[in-house]
Amino acid sequence: MDHIRNPNTHCIICNKAIYRRPKEIRTNRGNVFCSSKCYGRFNRRESPCIVCGTPILAHFHKKTCSRACANKHRTGIRYKLFLPRKDKVKNERILKLRLLRLRGPSVRSVDTIKLRYYTFITKIEIMGIII
Ligand SMILES: [Zn+2]
Ligand SMILES: [Zn+2]
Repeated sequence: MDHIRNPNTHCIICNKAIYRRPKEIRTNRGNVFCSSKCYGRFNRRESPCIVCGTPILAHFHKKTCSRACANKHRTGIRYKLFLPRKDKVKNERILKLRLLRLRGPSVRSVDTIKLRYYTFITKIEIMGIII
C-alpha cells in the first residue's frame, strides 16, 4: 500500500479529501482530482439542463437535455413576451377593461387609490395565470 499522507485538499469534482503536493496545487490553481476518472469528468464538464436540471455534457453545446425540455424552454420564452412590461400603458388599459368586466360598472366610481389597488390585484391574477 502507498504511503498515505494527511489530506490537505479536496478533489474539485467529488470533494474527496486527498493529498497533493502544495506545488502541484499551485500549478493547477486548485484544480486537483482524486483520480483520472474525476479528471476526465472535469474535462468534459457537465452543465445542468436549464429546464429540469439534468446534467448534460457541455461538449454538445446544448442548454436543455431533451426535446421535451427544449420545447418547454421555448414556451417559457414565448410566455416572457406576454409579461406586462413591454407595453405598459396598453397593458394598464387592458387591465382596466378587464377590471370593469370583472367587478362591474361600479368600479368607475371608486377613487384612484382603490382602482390602483384593484389593478394591482388583477395584475397578480394575470401573472398567476401566466406562471
Ligand atoms: Zn474525485
Ligand atoms: Zn431537461
